[in-house]
Amino acid sequence: MSAPAVPHSSYGPVGVLLSRVERVRKSGRGYTARCPAHEDRSASLSIAEGNDGRALVKCFAGCEVLAVVRALGLEVADLFPQRVADATPEGRTAAREAWRQSGWAAALGVLAREASIVVIAARAVADGQPLGPDDHARLLVAVERIEGAREVLA
Ligand SMILES: [Zn+2]
Repeated sequence: MSAPAVPHSSYGPVGVLLSRVERVRKSGRGYTARCPAHEDRSASLSIAEGNDGRALVKCFAGCEVLAVVRALGLEVADLFPQRVADATPEGRTAAREAWRQSGWAAALGVLAREASIVVIAARAVADGQPLGPDDHARLLVAVERIEGAREVLA
């Protein structure tokens, strides 16, 4: 009954994701599942396969892709298919570089967004406006995400 409805033929990045998330349901051309990055009572996570075989991940509650893959013990690179045809050392190096850059792109996106939140908070503090508990909590989330992004970029 509770076995996830993962088709037997699933493999590649989408298959890896589906094997790690809970409450998987087929939905349209993809799947929905419980988001591992927040307290998810509904199934907020959407998982689908892109045309190039990469896994497309979206949390409708707003979690960053980086936070979702990390919560699953994966890296952004794991969202991309490994090409068996590129098993030469040169191919592997090129693939590794492409994965690294996609991780950078995701991390830079996180940095840009979270930095703007820190800037808003800093301006408020500079203007003598105290931060409310919600603002304070959001600021801590921003700091956590920035540190996560820094790990990827380091
Ligand atoms: Zn989420």
